[in-house]
Amino acid sequence: MKSTAAKAKTAPDRDLGSSVTDLIGNTPLLRLSRVCPQANLYAKAEWYNPGQSCKDRPALYILNEAERSGQLKKGLTVLDATSGNTGIAYAMICADRGYPVTLCMPASVTPARIKVLKAYGAELILTDPILFSDGAILKARELYAAAPEKYFYADQYGNENNWISHYETTGPEIYAQTAGRITHFVATLGTGGTFTGAGRFLKEQSKDIQLIEVQPDAAFHGLEGMKHMESSIVPPIYDARLADRKMAVRTEAAYRWVVELAKREGLLAGISSGAALEAARIVAAENPQGTVVTVFPDNGLKYLSEHFWDDNL
Ligand code: PMP
Repeated sequence: MKSTAAKAKTAPDRDLGSSVTDLIGNTPLLRLSRVCPQANLYAKAEWYNPGQSCKDRPALYILNEAERSGQLKKGLTVLDATSGNTGIAYAMICADRGYPVTLCMPASVTPARIKVLKAYGAELILTDPILFSDGAILKARELYAAAPEKYFYADQYGNENNWISHYETTGPEIYAQTAGRITHFVATLGTGGTFTGAGRFLKEQSKDIQLIEVQPDAAFHGLEGMKHMESSIVPPIYDARLADRKMAVRTEAAYRWVVELAKREGLLAGISSGAALEAARIVAAENPQGTVVTVFPDNGLKYLSEHFWDDNL
């Protein structure tokens, strides 16, 4: 018997889409009532995007605008530096649209990320892990300088469409999902696109909304996807004056919260989500009457090979 009741229990139907890009955005906002029972703390589960991270949004905006302006056309290869998730998003969208993709990324990214990228057909150039994402950025610039006629260099660190995607989608979604009640927005920094874009939108809704950015506490860290700005090439799109407060998180604290999220909330989140939670819990504890929202950039499947899981599986 086909049960309509069973159907009604599933998530609201998304509109019928004609391609994978129609599934990008409108991710759920989850209350974290077990790891933060004392306060209203919510996380946006960005792995509900089809490429399973927040980076589907900027990748789509960057590629759409490049096609519209004529910078990207058939025959060109999409080129960029990535710590993984933006690359996955480019590779997914370009598989759908028929563009080849070349990605420069630190050799230290998890094996699962590399396999996903290869599954979508991307060409990978692995760079010195000691240099983190800066090594990948320098390699992408070098490839582009040597053959500009061959590539569309997407340049997620300098491309305004990165933060604009979050200004037009992530920010408005959070504001609507909290019915305008958000008091604090906490986000990790990689390119700075999520923080700058969603943060600018939220500040425009109310200047009382506090914007808190989260960085690794040291140049050498295990927070994949995040950047320690002081010791890195600062992304041109990152607005350093926007934050009301800047927080630094230890890698081990992030690992701990990743494990806690899985065991206590049933959420298998990525490492930067653990970093976001470490900071957001502090903000929530200080503001028990507030509504604190953070972003969980991706899920934990790609990180199960990381050693912090060894004693916790
Ligand atoms: N966490 C992860 C896992 C990421 O891949 C990224 C993007 N590099 C971020 C956090 C930071 O996002 P943004 O680039 O928007 O600052």
